[in-house]
Amino acid sequence: MPELRKDPVIGRWVIISTERGKRPTDFPPRTDRIDTRMCPFCPGNESATPPEILALRDNGTAPNAPGWRVRAISNKYPALKIEGELNREGVGLFDKMNGVGAHEVIIETPDHDKELEQLSVEQVTDVIWVYRERALDLQKDMRFRYLMLFKNKGVSAGASLSHSHAQLIATPVVPKRVSEELEGSRRYYEYKERCIFCDIIKQEISMNERVVAQNESFLALAPFAPRFPFETWVLPKFHSSQFPKLADQDIRLFAAILKDTLQRLEGVLNNPPYNFMIHTAPHTNGHDLEYHWHVEIIPKLTRVAGFEWGTGFYINPTPPEDAAQYLRGIVLGQPQGEPLIVPQR
Ligand SMILES: [Zn+2]
Ligand SMILES: [Zn+2]
Ligand SMILES: [Zn+2]
Repeated sequence: MPELRKDPVIGRWVIISTERGKRPTDFPPRTDRIDTRMCPFCPGNESATPPEILALRDNGTAPNAPGWRVRAISNKYPALKIEGELNREGVGLFDKMNGVGAHEVIIETPDHDKELEQLSVEQVTDVIWVYRERALDLQKDMRFRYLMLFKNKGVSAGASLSHSHAQLIATPVVPKRVSEELEGSRRYYEYKERCIFCDIIKQEISMNERVVAQNESFLALAPFAPRFPFETWVLPKFHSSQFPKLADQDIRLFAAILKDTLQRLEGVLNNPPYNFMIHTAPHTNGHDLEYHWHVEIIPKLTRVAGFEWGTGFYINPTPPEDAAQYLRGIVLGQPQGEPLIVPQR
C-alpha cells in the first residue's frame, strides 16, 4: 500500500509509494561532470573570475594568484546585484522590488577533480569556515533579510562548472520555503514550548529507523516525509537557530558528518548529482527558540513532473527507512536473507 505522510514542520504531505520499493540500483547510473576547455576556478586562472573576497592561502602568496586552499569570489553572472538601494514599488495590485542582493561563489578546493566529499576532514573544515565567514560578513548588510548557502553538483543538479564550489545568495526577502518552516516551527513552539527539530532529533535517535550517521554533535537522517528518494538531512544535536553562529569547535564535527553523509550517498548511489542547502533562521529577527538550522541534501535521481508541479505533492519511490538502511551500509531483504554490507570509504 502506498502511504501518505505529513512533514511535521510545514505540514506538506508526500506519497511514499512503498510498492515500487526502489533500490539504489534501480536509478540510472550517473556521473555527469561537465568538461570545459578552460576552468576559471582552477589555480592559475584567477584573472578569469571577479577578484577574491576571502581566501585561505599559504603564507606568502598574493591575492588572486595560486596558493589558495578555499577561495570566495563574487559570481560573474549574479542572480541579484550588490549595488543599489532597496526600492519597493506597487504596480496596481502587483508588488515589485529592485534585484538587490549578493551572489558569491566559494571554490572549495584548488583540485579540479576532487569533489567536496573527497576532501579530507581538515579541508572540509576550511570550506565550512569560509561558508560561515562569508555569511557573517553579508549579515552586516542591512538590506539583506536572508542568506542561502547551497551547492549544486552535476549538470542535472544545475551546476554549470564541474570544479567543486558552493554558492551564497543574500536576498532582500525571506524565501517562501524558509518562511513555511519558520511558521511551522513557531506554531509547534507556541503549542508545546519546545523546538520541533529538537523533538524530531530525540525521537529519531531513540527509534533509530531513519538515522544515517551521527557524531557527538551532529545527526544525519532520512526524514519521515521526504519528497525525494534518499533525501537526507544533517542537523546539530544541540539547539541552534542560525548556521553562522556555529562555534569554532563544532565546525570540524559538522565538516566530518557532512563529508561522511555525502560519501555514503556517493557510494550507494554511484556518484549522483545532488543539491544541498543550508536552512537557517533569518539573522534579522528572533526565531532563536523555535527554529533549528539544518542541511537538506537532495540527490537528483528522479524528475519533478506534472503532478508535483501541479499539486506540490511529491511521490517518493524509496521509503526513508529503506534509504537509511542502504546509507548505513546494510541492505536487508536480500534474496538469501543475507545482509549485504555496502563498502564504506
Ligand atoms: Zn577547475
Ligand atoms: Zn532545536
Ligand atoms: Zn529545511
